[in-house]
Amino acid sequence: MNADTHDTAPAAANASPPTRKVHDRARHPRLARELTTIGAMARIYCRDVHGTAAGLCAPCQALMDYATRRLDRCVFGDDKPTCANCTVHCYNAENREAVRTMMRYAGPRMLWRHPFLAIAHVVDGRRPAPALPKAKPAKAAASADDNGR
Ligand code: SF4
Ligand SMILES: [Zn+2]
Repeated sequence: MNADTHDTAPAAANASPPTRKVHDRARHPRLARELTTIGAMARIYCRDVHGTAAGLCAPCQALMDYATRRLDRCVFGDDKPTCANCTVHCYNAENREAVRTMMRYAGPRMLWRHPFLAIAHVVDGRRPAPALPKAKPAKAAASADDNGR
């Protein structure tokens, strides 16, 4: 019994939090569409460059998982700019370069294979990055909390 508890605890501690928003198309259409777009680009790139017949190879899947987590936690939420136009750039340097390489290859090919997503991405790319959402001041939040009690 103790052994079971010991075995499962570290796995739970290391597990990534679930990505909810990007899969909730009804409430977060922009994030969900962006996930579809990056997934389509990853498949084009992986198939053509890595010769993967179906799905994604392990490194591309790892990059996709990373991009999904970043997208889910994007500070701009549904007002996000395209990541290329972002003023924050939350990707680490290695993954940022990997996504850039993937998009440079897949971007021009998207127009033929996924014209709606390609055009929507171009339109999104013309929008400037919005101002960063301001963090709530700790005092105001605490006071609101007090009033609510
Ligand atoms: S790079 Fe910018 S726009 Fe893209 S997910 Fe990160 S914070 Fe959001
Ligand atoms: Zn691949």
